[in-house]
Amino acid sequence: MLGPLSAEDGHAMLAAFALSGASVEARERGADVVRTTQQRDCWFRCDCLGTAEAPILVPVTETHIRRSPHHPEHAEGCPFEMTAVERESYAASLREPQAGDSFQLARAIGQPGSALVRDTASGEDESGQCAGRGVHNAGRERTKLSQLLFKLLSDTRLHQVGRGPRGHADQQAALYKAARGISLGGDLMLSGVLYTDAGQLDDLVGRVRLRARWPDGRRPHGVLVFIAARIEDDVIVAVSGARLTVEGPIAVFGPGTGKMRHGPFVVAVLVASPDGRAPLVPLKGYAHPCWTPSDMLPVDSSHERRSLDILVRFRDWMGTQGYGVEITKPLHDRSRYFLGGEEPDQVVMPDFEGKVFAPDGGFARSLVVETLGFRHAAYRAKKQRLKEILTRKPGRYLEHLAHDGIDPAEGDRRFRKDLLKFGKDVIDTVLRKPAASAAPAIVLPPPASLPAPPRGEIFAPAPPGHAVLMASAEVPQTLFGAPTP
Ligand SMILES: [Zn+2]
Repeated sequence: MLGPLSAEDGHAMLAAFALSGASVEARERGADVVRTTQQRDCWFRCDCLGTAEAPILVPVTETHIRRSPHHPEHAEGCPFEMTAVERESYAASLREPQAGDSFQLARAIGQPGSALVRDTASGEDESGQCAGRGVHNAGRERTKLSQLLFKLLSDTRLHQVGRGPRGHADQQAALYKAARGISLGGDLMLSGVLYTDAGQLDDLVGRVRLRARWPDGRRPHGVLVFIAARIEDDVIVAVSGARLTVEGPIAVFGPGTGKMRHGPFVVAVLVASPDGRAPLVPLKGYAHPCWTPSDMLPVDSSHERRSLDILVRFRDWMGTQGYGVEITKPLHDRSRYFLGGEEPDQVVMPDFEGKVFAPDGGFARSLVVETLGFRHAAYRAKKQRLKEILTRKPGRYLEHLAHDGIDPAEGDRRFRKDLLKFGKDVIDTVLRKPAASAAPAIVLPPPASLPAPPRGEIFAPAPPGHAVLMASAEVPQTLFGAPTP
């Protein structure tokens, strides 16, 4: 035990290993601190949790550090949560895929290691061996399998309310259509090996076997994408009731390590042969919480499900006033939009983004929503920094307080109230707009379909014009606050 780091050494460690864009000099100064520490057989304790059992940083080769997997994780927002190198590869894994990107999931036969393309974030070790079967927390960095799932969900617009398909049949059709444009390497397209029913594993295996040629000698494999009700150890239970036993790890997004993880989840499962000769089996899975048991729209927590429910009721209400609202769950890094790409390893992903369209179809206002699920200091600091970035662009920023410091009903009420005020502001602004400038510079097509009003609605949807007049009257907030029967 050496005692606390001097302020100077602490700053050197921060600049070298935690902050982005470290200079050569900064890395050398950090390495000096690591060297002297390692030569005395000591580790670094991080005090971000403020608890007796602290996260540990281990000196490596007298030059850098890594986090100890045998100690608590750093607090969310702690600068040492990820090293600079990890942050760069984390940011890269969340970047929006470009045209021509492919998603190689399985190794060539004869290559050393396991059947899987090495994915350190998936719980596989350096040799490519799976860390073991059963549930574990998905790392923050996305694996190839989860990147593929997010690409599929964004290409189908399943992450958007107002543009994306919603019913079961429409979602299935959209998945197959988008899969035709996604390459698993070479000319192997996802559509050829995708099934969306966990109960059709045997059909998928049969179809994969029939395919004669595989690019680069890669082993035959297929992908299942479906909604799971829950995950029990190494079994994924589909909402259809089908049970899928997964040979390797099942990575689940979100905190918590409970043995039985409750859904619903949107799930991607890689089906392949473990050694190239044995029969094809479900080899690994990725599960992300989704909106409902019949809707694949991904959410990051049950708090976000509540935020989305309220946003959709707001959208329904705006629809009765003649206004269209498009709600998006961003699935990829949005730093290029919010920061203009000035910090390449800074990831910016708002919880939700919204766009409001006037009755004439013209874009009226944008909206960003953050769901605040915790209230500890590090989390608040991180969200504060995010807010500072998200408010650089025009539009309204709103928070949904969903942490344990507030009664859920009160948090929801405040969020509905803020949304209603926002909606009225937009309507007032559109009404006040002088006729000469009524035509916006860029006219976007009107949203495909305005929603039917919720049942029990007081006002019937009115044609534009009427709707605008009605909206200026005092509207009770229960209009979109009442639970849908
Ligand atoms: Zn820490």
